[in-house]
Amino acid sequence: MIVRDDLDQLLGAIARRGFRLIGPTVRDGAIVYDDISSSADLPAGWTDEQDGGTYRLRRRDDDALFGYAVGPQSWKRYLFPPTSVVWRSGQDRAAAEAEAEAGPPMAFIGVRSCELRAIAIQDRVFLGGQHVDPVYAGRREGAFLVAVNCGTAGGTCFCVSMDAGPKAESGFDLALTELMDGGRHEFLAEAGTGRGADVLSEVTSRPAGRPDTQAADLVTERTAASMGRQLDTGGIKDLLYDNFEHPRWDDVASRCLTCGNCTMVCPTCFCFSITDVNDLTGTQAEQQRSWDSCFTMDHSYVHGGSVRASSRSRYRQWMTHKLATWIDQFGTSGCVGCGRCITWCPVGIDITEEAAAIRASDGKAGGDNRGHA
Ligand code: SF4
Ligand code: SF4
Repeated sequence: MIVRDDLDQLLGAIARRGFRLIGPTVRDGAIVYDDISSSADLPAGWTDEQDGGTYRLRRRDDDALFGYAVGPQSWKRYLFPPTSVVWRSGQDRAAAEAEAEAGPPMAFIGVRSCELRAIAIQDRVFLGGQHVDPVYAGRREGAFLVAVNCGTAGGTCFCVSMDAGPKAESGFDLALTELMDGGRHEFLAEAGTGRGADVLSEVTSRPAGRPDTQAADLVTERTAASMGRQLDTGGIKDLLYDNFEHPRWDDVASRCLTCGNCTMVCPTCFCFSITDVNDLTGTQAEQQRSWDSCFTMDHSYVHGGSVRASSRSRYRQWMTHKLATWIDQFGTSGCVGCGRCITWCPVGIDITEEAAAIRASDGKAGGDNRGHA
């Protein structure tokens, strides 16, 4: 057990090992990830209220450091940056890969269980295939992950439905549970790796007793019982495959702005595009990789036209990929139930509501039109 005032010892022990500390902090009315230097940078006493198309920070009546759900950003922006250079004129592949790995290794402070799952999913995409992505690999390999079990479920969270939370089970170096019962402010700390245990050995602590572990279990049990949303995943792959022509796709298309926000905030979405960029003198050229979205026309443009020209076909592609075709492609769902796509959709389109509507009137329309407009 680590008391609140000794949390900086933990951050210091990680920083001494050469890691760049990145954690949650309040900026522009939201909890966002940024460089931090001590626990004073964490969002003490803040929580978030979330619903479809709605996000507000609100003061808590305590000084919890991790008393919120998730903000608009995910760790994706550090492992798979929104823009990166993949090649520069005059540069060979080895130099490009060395550049991708440049910079100190990163330590992520406050990784939620759903985010650990999202990182594991992106590991599969970027590292698990025939071609390893050097930008992602360079950033991911040394990263130190400090998970924090959720003590608050957001209004749009449904990690329980996706079997992705709220308790971190694996994939972390350290896992913390913030305990504030009975007037105390302590963290139950669990090491998930040898280097996590090394860090812990340098921090003032006391052994956790059974009442401490029971209190920690109660925190995640309460969070699990207060999910803002739920999604019935039973047979969801076949449900969506059987309903390519369901009228609900027209209904959601009448609301969807095809802005792509849902894909930008999603911690598992990985689509990107490559752009050739020349400088004005004509002496330097590079290829830049930028996040792209299945909601843009250009992303599905193939020799003379977009294969997904309508908003109906684009929303259907996104949701069917997340919940169904991802399973065939990578062996897991592409959704971890973080709720960001619901919160940050400007018109409040809700993936759980759309899936439930299709289930409620499952037409078993069938057809062989997967992926077509
Ligand atoms: S579902 Fe919402 S966030 Fe996603 S593209 Fe449509 S309007 Fe934008
Ligand atoms: S689809 Fe929505 S709820 Fe699922 S992981 Fe992506 S942003 Fe989170």
